[in-house]
Amino acid sequence: MDYIYQPLLISEFFFAIITFVILLKIKAPYGRHINTNFGPLIPSKLGWIIMESPSVIIMFYFYLNSSVNLVATIFIAIWQIHYLQRTFIFPLFMKGSNKKIPILIVIFSILFNSINAFINGYFIFIISSYENSWIYNWYFIFGLVLFIVGYIINVHSDHVLRSLRVNGDKAYYIPKKGMHKLVAAPNYLGEIIEWCGWALLTLSLPGLAFAIFTIANLVPRALSNLNWYNQEFSDYPKNRKALIPYIL
Ligand code: NDP
Repeated sequence: MDYIYQPLLISEFFFAIITFVILLKIKAPYGRHINTNFGPLIPSKLGWIIMESPSVIIMFYFYLNSSVNLVATIFIAIWQIHYLQRTFIFPLFMKGSNKKIPILIVIFSILFNSINAFINGYFIFIISSYENSWIYNWYFIFGLVLFIVGYIINVHSDHVLRSLRVNGDKAYYIPKKGMHKLVAAPNYLGEIIEWCGWALLTLSLPGLAFAIFTIANLVPRALSNLNWYNQEFSDYPKNRKALIPYIL
């Protein structure tokens, strides 16, 4: 599979640039920015499970085909702690039960998640040979701390949003807890911190590609979300930034 690894790795960097440019002009049509001009829709819960599953399956496949050691097991645990949550727990507990997502978004995400899990899994478990002593490197320790901090911010911020609605409720409210007091999209901030942590703790180009893609994908959406809140709610706190407290 060596012959497809390099092109896919390079394509993820290009993908990030293209995504950033497009998303500055067009809002990805799901959630609060849903737009029915993007073709047929399917239930959101199902869409999230289908589109995130490749990340769980492909990474696990490469782990099982690697020479399993302690560090490989820690890598797979870190990855799956995020992706089992994103693929199953996040959608299954989502409120606003009958919401829909365009099939186009699901297809695009399956493609991206498959490429991303392939390059990350293939590099970490097949190409590289991380020794167990890797876990004593400063970049592993600092990267892991970043990942954990990002994970807590992401999961807590999604939990705050979920608790704004009762079952079946599709309305939007102003979130007032946790990091939501500072920024419009703390869940995205947490996600970005997580994958920067992953890039550092694996010290890998695929990890870097994923972190850059996540930034390219979520910075424009965080800016769109802040605009949306300001348009929808006249009492939306004026001091809230989009993504980075007091800065952006
Ligand atoms: P949002 O913040 O837009 O929505 C998260 C959930 O909360 C949705 O169910 C949404 O409902 C609901 N919600 C949002 N705002 C409100 C509000 N003001 N009042 C009531 N309910 C609200 O996040 P996304 O859906 O874009 O992303 C979900 C998760 O996936 C995030 O953790 C994000 O970090 C991650 N993600 C990661 C990406 C990556 O590139 N790595 C890409 C995209 C997402 P509704 O669906 O009805 O709007």
